[in-house]
Amino acid sequence: MDTVSLMPMSTLLIRNAHVLVTMDGREIQHGGLYARDGWIENVDLTDDIPAVADEIVDLTGHLVLPGLVNTHHHLYQTLTRAFPGAQDAGLFEWLRTLYPVWARLTPDHVRISTRLGLVELARSGATTIFDHQYLWPNGSRADDQFEGADGLNLRFHVSRGSMSLGESDGGLPPDSVVEDHDAILDDTRRVISAHHDDGRGAVRRVVVAPCSPFTVTAELMRDSAALARDAGVRLHTHLAETEDEVEFCLENFGHRPVAHMETLDWTGSDVWYAHSVHCGDDEVIRMGAAGTGIAHCPTSNMRLASGLAPIGPYLAAGIPVGLGVDGSASNDSSNMLAEARQALLLNRLAVAPGIGEGPQMSARQALELATVGGADVLGRDDIGVLAPGRAADFIAIDLNRVEFAGALHDPVAAAVLCAPGRIDHSWVGGRPLVQYGRVVGVDEESLVERHNMLARDLVG
Ligand SMILES: [Zn+2]
Repeated sequence: MDTVSLMPMSTLLIRNAHVLVTMDGREIQHGGLYARDGWIENVDLTDDIPAVADEIVDLTGHLVLPGLVNTHHHLYQTLTRAFPGAQDAGLFEWLRTLYPVWARLTPDHVRISTRLGLVELARSGATTIFDHQYLWPNGSRADDQFEGADGLNLRFHVSRGSMSLGESDGGLPPDSVVEDHDAILDDTRRVISAHHDDGRGAVRRVVVAPCSPFTVTAELMRDSAALARDAGVRLHTHLAETEDEVEFCLENFGHRPVAHMETLDWTGSDVWYAHSVHCGDDEVIRMGAAGTGIAHCPTSNMRLASGLAPIGPYLAAGIPVGLGVDGSASNDSSNMLAEARQALLLNRLAVAPGIGEGPQMSARQALELATVGGADVLGRDDIGVLAPGRAADFIAIDLNRVEFAGALHDPVAAAVLCAPGRIDHSWVGGRPLVQYGRVVGVDEESLVERHNMLARDLVG
């Protein structure tokens, strides 16, 4: 990559990409992109866009894609990856093992795990990241997550998540990690007013995200929905992740999870669920009609033996679907390119003879889920596609690597099928995020050292 820069930057020109994928239907050989003040003005053949700019980057030999969008994660769980007691457990047992460890999280743990996870995601191509944190012990706050992201040039959507249904009230988590109903709502309002930016091109947003039907009271679910709609922010929760949860909902609410959420006003185009593995045909149709989105988390669903989410039917029903790497303790990695590959491979299993039916997901469909699909799920029409009027958020992968040798017949499909794992460069709003595989402005070695120290301290 050759870069010619004349400061201060206001226009950026990308030239000579081996292929540039816009995600609105075009794959441009020898592609170029021209952006002004972080917004795309032209995407076309290099020879057909302006030849002069304040900064010029030659991406000969690179694949260029829109920045990837992560729609579900728990960054704090980077501190408890590969945790010995939780390696071979289903969701409920996995949670019961880890809750007491997470109850010791401090603001420092939240800040450093947030930063570490964001860096890991950025190196795999993520430029917009949603995180779902739902427990705030020992004085930790959503503000600590924003602080952890300080100086990172990426778009970060933080949840003010919550849990209010402790063990003594019939919930799954120990009482020590649940919060008071009114305190949750008061702090949610505070976090929105302190941090939420609703504008196009926003780099920090807030989402209202009670954890799940088995950790939150129905009353908190309902009040959270009202609060979010009043404030104009989006709603997110885990739903229908496992058979255990379906049984919990039938036993406690007399409904399956989707029907339970319908009674709580938790459907619509401002809502997205994580997982939705166990949904029947009628539920799929109802979610499609409501416009409710899905964060598909294939690695986590395999890791916890949760099941096969019906992604083919979701897409056929018009449901917005994005990808989520989901909790670093139920995936043990935060890698968006790997998640796109897992989505494709898990779909191939889901439609295998004797297991299911339907068309095979293509590599391009997997990339769609990771880009424009994720943007739709997060309610953003300013990212996910490389086109005039969209933000200049894009990634570049050097195709002259061992992993791609012999795959240049179709470098776009190779990005998913060959599993490169890491990107080489990325830009957010026309400014660099990753350069030569490293996140700009981050001392990775000292971050890893500090994170490992905090992880040891947490596990005790
Ligand atoms: Zn999750």
